[in-house]
Amino acid sequence: MNYNITCYSTALFATWFFIEELGLLFDAGDGVTSTILQKSRKVKHLFISHADRDHLNGIPQFFQLNARQDFPKIYYPHDSGSFPALQNFLAKFDPHLTGSEWIPIRENTSFNIKGNMYVESIRNGHIQVEAGITKSLSYKIVEKKRKLKDEFQKLSGKEIAQIAKEKGQTFLTIEVREEILGYSGDTPIEDYQRWDKTKTLIHEATFLTNEVGLNSKSNKHSTLEEVMQMIASINVERLILSHFSSRYSHEEIDKAILDNCKKYNIQIPVYRILPGLSYHDILHQEPING
Ligand SMILES: [Zn+2]
Repeated sequence: MNYNITCYSTALFATWFFIEELGLLFDAGDGVTSTILQKSRKVKHLFISHADRDHLNGIPQFFQLNARQDFPKIYYPHDSGSFPALQNFLAKFDPHLTGSEWIPIRENTSFNIKGNMYVESIRNGHIQVEAGITKSLSYKIVEKKRKLKDEFQKLSGKEIAQIAKEKGQTFLTIEVREEILGYSGDTPIEDYQRWDKTKTLIHEATFLTNEVGLNSKSNKHSTLEEVMQMIASINVERLILSHFSSRYSHEEIDKAILDNCKKYNIQIPVYRILPGLSYHDILHQEPING
């Protein structure tokens, strides 16, 4: 399914992705509320990748308009002190706001967001910290269903009911995972398998090439070429490239994407979030390589 994704993502300035059907927001940079307007009311779960200001500056206005009993729930990297600081500030700044829930999370944890849908947290190396400290996360939306085991497929309803009665329902079924969507947040490329078999991948590509010095100091990012190399060797059904640096013109970015599609023989639809532009329902627009 091609979810309705509305988004903005420009390195250093602001990043956010709103997935309408799931009432889900990944990051909350400037402009999120003023772009999705009344639809911000639909957001129930807000997952923040890390505490860089361009990924969280939209929170005060978003909460001002939407905080209510039990919602929104905001999930953030466990050891980022910015979030408790912001929570305390907002409690004083907008004391009438109550109800929202602030949840510190670590890697490899699964959160139910709706029906069979879960968001899983994945550690990434954008911010270099020792094991056990959580400051930067990627996220994956997974649908988990239980399916009748092969050996029981031929049994009648009556026989199945009998086994369920004797051994319990879970004995009859296995869990099937479908990896619906991945959101890289800010991260270098670390592990190709992380996104294998993910249907829709939103990945950062801050720099077009690995120019000397761009990625050596401070926090780590991906280059477009590294992302495309990874895509060429894993199974992903569609790709949304995001978080480009505004040092590049739109033409430079599009040319570099098309050159890489050719070089790495990328056949899947590729969409891109150009600097300074917001996109409504991006997956129903034309892919750049279509
Ligand atoms: Zn960023």
